Amino acid sequence: MENKIPTTSIAQLGEFGLIDHLTANFAAKNPNVIQSIGDDCAVLETGNPTHYQVVTTDILTEGIHFDLTYTPLKHLGYKAVVANVSDIYAMNGTPQYITVSVAISSKYTVEAMEEIYKGMYLACERYGVDLIGGDTTSSLKGLYISITAIGSVEKTKVAYRSGAKANQLICVSGDLGAAFMGLQLLEREKQIFREHPNVQPDLENQHYLLARQLKPEARKDLIELLQLKEVVPTAMIDVSDGLSSEITHLCKKSNCGAQLYEEKIPIHSDTYEMAVKMNIDPVSCYMNGGEDYELLFTIDQKDYEKLKEESDISIIGHMTTPDQGIRMMSKGGQLIDIRAKGWNSFEPNNPE
Ligand code: ADP
Ligand code: MG
Repeated sequence: MENKIPTTSIAQLGEFGLIDHLTANFAAKNPNVIQSIGDDCAVLETGNPTHYQVVTTDILTEGIHFDLTYTPLKHLGYKAVVANVSDIYAMNGTPQYITVSVAISSKYTVEAMEEIYKGMYLACERYGVDLIGGDTTSSLKGLYISITAIGSVEKTKVAYRSGAKANQLICVSGDLGAAFMGLQLLEREKQIFREHPNVQPDLENQHYLLARQLKPEARKDLIELLQLKEVVPTAMIDVSDGLSSEITHLCKKSNCGAQLYEEKIPIHSDTYEMAVKMNIDPVSCYMNGGEDYELLFTIDQKDYEKLKEESDISIIGHMTTPDQGIRMMSKGGQLIDIRAKGWNSFEPNNPE
């Protein structure tokens, strides 16, 4: 009889399925772990009477998360830090420290690494964090950057993904989908350049879209605004994988459904116009795109008055009960089911 070793492709489970699969049976032994796997950060009791510590980590892989054909190295360093501090803000916290680990292939020079670190230091300045350590090694192919960020959050203000309740309002900062459109623009030009190396890239003066893709910011200002307005989000997550994925996380963790309204979703006119021009559904830009690093959060209805005049916060819907599903009312009045798609680096058609 043939002895078959079972093989399951990772694509079958997907990113979140794999994480669940690998971690589902692991319970924290240490009573200081307040929140383990499953949120934007782990939350730890350190004996500080007023604050918890929050910890998050993220890895960026060349060819998957960034393409050096069009990503300036300094921007790459900046963005790598932003992606991490964004997860600290998503807990309503303040970032303090980062460690940076890099695996470098032989094609990188000292000068190239200096550029990446220039960007990292710039982000450290901007977000008030200190680089306190890391690790350096070589890689056979490509560059890997893994950053861990550590911060703190007031115990009474920590915002988990799990705290939302039916009828609470769903809010989002800034606008969505621009980073995705910036990427489409860069990819289009890369393709044209490959086929016609003599043609100059035409980025159509799309500064906003390109900046959103190449040099995003984390929403430190939003956390400060919420503090000022004395609003504590009941739940929060950062938008790194696309709205459909993030609202699904909030709903699952909070055991809720959600009702969104297409007409309320903030989309920049540049994003909208470029999507139409490139024949891309603007809804899919914000639903399935990613890397906006905006904050998606829920608030109690009583806090509505405090935020309703804020032009940088959009109220895009409300939480419902889980039996009502996760839905969006289209501009045409149709109820559409939202399915988490988001960014999945294990999709079969993704370059490995
Ligand atoms: P985010 O998009 O906010 O960075 P992720 O979707 O990457 O969060 O991760 C979701 C949760 O799963 C987080 O709590 C993260 O720490 C955890 N996680 C991700 N990958 C692993 C892994 N390989 N082992 C253990 N936990 C993981
Ligand atoms: Mg996150």
